[in-house]
Amino acid sequence: MDIISNSIGMIWIRIKYRLGLLYKISLFKLGFGRLLLKNRYGERILLFHGIDKTGETRYNSRFISKTFFEEFIKYITTHYNVISLDDFYKKKFKKNILNVALTFDDGYLNNYVYAIPILEKYNVHASFYITTVHEKTPYLWPDFLDLVSFHTEKEQVVFERNLYQKSIKNEFIWNGVSLKNAAKVLPYDVLKLIYTVFKSDWNALPPEDYKEYWKLMTEEQIMEIAKNPLFTIGAHGETHVSLIDIPFEEAKREVLASKQKLETICKQPITEFAFPFGFYNKEIAEYCKEIGFERLLLVDYNTKEDTKNEAWKNRFVMNPYISLEQQLAYLLKGSYF
Ligand SMILES: [Zn+2]
Repeated sequence: MDIISNSIGMIWIRIKYRLGLLYKISLFKLGFGRLLLKNRYGERILLFHGIDKTGETRYNSRFISKTFFEEFIKYITTHYNVISLDDFYKKKFKKNILNVALTFDDGYLNNYVYAIPILEKYNVHASFYITTVHEKTPYLWPDFLDLVSFHTEKEQVVFERNLYQKSIKNEFIWNGVSLKNAAKVLPYDVLKLIYTVFKSDWNALPPEDYKEYWKLMTEEQIMEIAKNPLFTIGAHGETHVSLIDIPFEEAKREVLASKQKLETICKQPITEFAFPFGFYNKEIAEYCKEIGFERLLLVDYNTKEDTKNEAWKNRFVMNPYISLEQQLAYLLKGSYF
C-alpha cells in the first residue's frame, strides 16, 4: 500500500511540476514573465561555454547562438540584478529579485568574437575560465573528438585495445561507454592517443570550416580580457581532463600549471578555478586552496555538506536545446528537474 501511495505521490509531484513549468513558459510567451518575479528572489551563477552564429547542436551541447545570447542578456539585465562574480561572493544581493552572475568555461575564441561585444554593450560583468592547453594543441580534445566523430567515415576505432563502434548519435561506444567518457578519466599523455586514432581524418588541425567549434582565444586576447574591468580571468585546468580520475600528482600539476601560465599571460594573480566537467573532490579542492585559488566553481555540489563551503559555488548550465521562454522559466526554477 505504501508503495502504491508513494508512487501516486510521485506521479502527482511530476504532474504538478509539469503544470507549473507549462504555466511559467506560457506567461513568458505572453509577455507576462515579470509576474513570476513577484516575491521571487535567489542567486544563480550561470555557466556558458561557446557562442556561435546559429546555435549548432549537432556536435555537442556547448554552443548557443549569438542572437539567443543577446536576447537573454537583454532580458536578464532588464528584469534581474546582474552582478559580478566578485559581488556574488561578497553577497551583494538585492532582495525580491533574482541575482545573477555570468561565467564562461573553456576559453573559446567565439567568446571573444561574439559574447564580449554583447557583454560590453549591456555593461555586464563576466568571468572566463580558460583551459591553458595552447602549447600542446591549439584546441581542446573534447572538441576535436566531437567534431572528428561527426566528420569521419570510420564506423569503428580501436582505443586502448577496445573496439568502439560509431552510434547513430555519432559517438563511438564500447561496452556502453563512450570514447569521450573513457578518455576524460585518463592523463593527457594517454588520452592524446585519440589524435593517432583519427590521424587519417585530420592529421593536423581540425578544419577552418569548424573553427567556431574548436578555436581558443590567443594569449593576447586573454590578456586584453584580463585588463577589462568588466571581466575576470580564472583557470580551468591545463588539458581539460577529469581531475578526480587521474593520479593525484598529475591533477596537482594540471591545476598549478594552469594557474602559473595564466598569471604569466595576465600579469595578475589568478584566484578563481572552475573544475573541468565540474568534477571535484575534497583532496583536489584542498590543493587548489593551498596554492591560492580562493573561489572554486563547480556545476553541482557532491553533497549537501559541500553547500556550506563559502568558497565553493554551484552553477546553472545554459541549455541550447530549449526556447528563450523555457530557458527563463528553468532559470527562475533554478534547475531542470
Ligand atoms: Zn570545460
